[in-house]
Amino acid sequence: MGVRPSLYEELRNQGVSRRGFLKFCGYMSSVLTLPVGSAEVIAQALASKPRPSVIWLSVQECTGCSESLLRSFEPTLESLILDSISLDYHHVLQAAAGAAAEAARDRAIEQNWGKYFLIVDGSIPGKDAGARSTTGGKAGLSLVRNAAQGAAVIASVGTCAAFGGIGAAAPNPSGAFGAADALGDLVAAGKVTAPIVNIPGCPPVPEVITGLVTYYLTYGSIPALDDLRRPKIFFGKTVHDNCTRLPFFERQQFARSFDDEGARKGWCLKDLGCKGPLTFNACTTIKWNQGTSFPMYSGHGCLGCAQPSFWDRPGGFYTKPF
Ligand code: SF4
Ligand code: SF4
Repeated sequence: MGVRPSLYEELRNQGVSRRGFLKFCGYMSSVLTLPVGSAEVIAQALASKPRPSVIWLSVQECTGCSESLLRSFEPTLESLILDSISLDYHHVLQAAAGAAAEAARDRAIEQNWGKYFLIVDGSIPGKDAGARSTTGGKAGLSLVRNAAQGAAVIASVGTCAAFGGIGAAAPNPSGAFGAADALGDLVAAGKVTAPIVNIPGCPPVPEVITGLVTYYLTYGSIPALDDLRRPKIFFGKTVHDNCTRLPFFERQQFARSFDDEGARKGWCLKDLGCKGPLTFNACTTIKWNQGTSFPMYSGHGCLGCAQPSFWDRPGGFYTKPF
């Protein structure tokens, strides 16, 4: 296999200007809260290192995480990952289908063994040897377990891949779990040595996925994780900590309905069910739709989608968090 071009070379071939590339590096530096001067370090790394191989395995999922990924900052992840980083396998987005696609996946795994970035989305059904979710006649459970053994990094993208999500919600008919749990025995046996990073969210903030890939390409390692395997740079604070309604929370000014005068004035939505104080995510710092807004800014509370208990929280979405 020939040497892959660098990510910058690929972007340039697609018409991304040097200025656009540097803008992306600067944005990533701020998203990753890196020190001054880090944009140049990122630019140098992305311009010099061969692009990595990415294998994306979707198991029991709704495609929302892939949709989110396509809505990230310019250059979009569509161009960054799909065209530049070399997405060797993604069964929703790739052009190939059927046996050719499955063969391409197996070839990419074999040729890049020990070096590829494995992304998993969707929960993994464990019941009946994983037979509830198959691709090309193979159980998602065995596809993930096999691919994980040759990965350099494993990223569980979305609350389903991280914690089981809706697939694992009671009564969990398929015996679903997240990727880390599906790989637990292989990790214990030393057969999976790659770090497993959780990027929860339903869907996850797309720039967090880009940020993780960029960090890995720049430093050859992953950022520090918390005890739920989430990168602390993105999940170190609750969405409440940077919410624009926080001053009203502190003054105990709570909206009583979604369209009352208080809600329109920006009062806190806790009594309408906002789970922001219990939810660790980057929604109020990075924001959504290319930095435009976030739910509480737009008038709706946080549903707590990035937490392990999202779907099974007693009382449902609109009960007070405390
Ligand atoms: S609206 Fe939610 S996140 Fe914002 S201050 Fe109130 S409780 Fe916190
Ligand atoms: S505001 Fe809450 S529910 Fe909305 S995306 Fe962020 S973590 Fe999920």
